[in-house]
Amino acid sequence: MKLYTIESETKQHTAVEGKDGKLYTLGSLGIDVKDMNDLIFHFDELSPLIVKGLEADAPKTEAANYIIKAPIPVPLQDIICLGVNYRSHVEETVDVLDFTKKADTVYFSKRVNTANDPDGTIPVYDFVDSLDYEVELGVVIKKDALNVSVNEAAKYILGYTIINDVSARNLQSKHQQWYRGKSLDGYTPMGPCIVTADEISDAHDLDISCYVNGEKRQDSNTKYMITSIEEAVSELSRGMLLKAGTIIATGTPGGVAMGMKPPVYLKKGDIIKCGISGIGSLENRVGQ
Ligand code: MG
Repeated sequence: MKLYTIESETKQHTAVEGKDGKLYTLGSLGIDVKDMNDLIFHFDELSPLIVKGLEADAPKTEAANYIIKAPIPVPLQDIICLGVNYRSHVEETVDVLDFTKKADTVYFSKRVNTANDPDGTIPVYDFVDSLDYEVELGVVIKKDALNVSVNEAAKYILGYTIINDVSARNLQSKHQQWYRGKSLDGYTPMGPCIVTADEISDAHDLDISCYVNGEKRQDSNTKYMITSIEEAVSELSRGMLLKAGTIIATGTPGGVAMGMKPPVYLKKGDIIKCGISGIGSLENRVGQ
């Protein structure tokens, strides 16, 4: 199923897409959850009720006059990110930092006080002169995972979303660490929904792309990830509890602005469209 957070008359609701393509709030199906995180915590018990609610003969009221928010508007923790997890991105960034001989997965984190909407504006900051985009497959963990094997990892995955890991390259260089440059407010557009794992037949065979003002910049497939999703979940859970609600961004393919010669960074007014097959797309404008 496709799970959404929508806002109607300033109130947020958790919603699901019906077979007719319309959105229904869980409340209208008689399911009471506080927000998406609450749904995640109880997903395995509530999932059959959602399916039943959508199939019930009783007339349902579709959601109306809503806007689509990031599916998890307020992540419970920093997002865990995989760095340089596609060979094409390793190669294009070799002049900045050489990861061609890396043997192990690069992990870092990204603060997301509030995720940006799928059509939200990416803020302009006067101390950022090299704004970049990174389309990534986001993975949402549905139950606490500790010391899980690669083979068991799938049982802990609720589903998938799209994340644009917006990055201020000058801050990444200035602080010799990626945290601040990736964590500014508005730097994490997410959505438009979470597609549950049962609806994605192979998360390692999804087309992934990013366009800037209609120009194709990134065009790849998740099969080119170096560390697989299951390997990352397993490794991260070794000795560190991965709590339900954890979001993992699995890295970006080649084609970012930093890798262009010369780099063509984002500027005010640019429209960035990030898409992943089976999930949908984000379309964000750089503005104030
Ligand atoms: Mg990234």
